[in-house]
Amino acid sequence: MKIICIGRNYIEHAKELSNPIPKKPMFFMKPETALLQKNMPFFYPEFSENIHYETEIVLKIKKIGKHIQEKFAHTYYDEIGIGIDLTARDIQDQCKSKGHPWEIAKAFDGSAPLGKFINKRKFEDINNLNFSLRVNGEIRQDGNTKDMIFSFDKIIAYVSQFVTLKIGDLIFTGTPEGVGPIKLDDHFEAYIEGKKLLDLKIK
Ligand code: MG
Repeated sequence: MKIICIGRNYIEHAKELSNPIPKKPMFFMKPETALLQKNMPFFYPEFSENIHYETEIVLKIKKIGKHIQEKFAHTYYDEIGIGIDLTARDIQDQCKSKGHPWEIAKAFDGSAPLGKFINKRKFEDINNLNFSLRVNGEIRQDGNTKDMIFSFDKIIAYVSQFVTLKIGDLIFTGTPEGVGPIKLDDHFEAYIEGKKLLDLKIK
């Protein structure tokens, strides 16, 4: 199982980090050991002093595919969930400035807290899906999938040109604006269409 993450898929988020708007989807990966499920807490590691939350809609791949055409991409996932792409922003900034890969800032243990999944048929339109993050009860991120630069189906078509998608693979589809640092004792709650699917405490 692998975790594929799309970067800079919401214009306002790309702008808040002073990144260019991509012309093609940009992706990186996290290993299975990054997963944090069942509302397990995240323990703040010693190697970073500026870990950020990025709330993202997550797709779960249900069949194997390579070179998937965009028009068939919707048949490769039924379940939609929400996750947090935890990012050591201080380390990522160093990587960017040196032109190094991002794994050390993105792929560490516990860097992919993941909530419950819902069948996509429960939603009227997955390309117009509200999702949000509360930190200590206060809304910090409030996005809608209609603001994605690259749709779910475009992402699947693009990524599968390079990487075979397999059953159970997860795709984090990018974060809207409002990212910020996590702190000890913070309480994160993530929602899709008002339904709470993820609860995370920082320890
Ligand atoms: Mg992200």
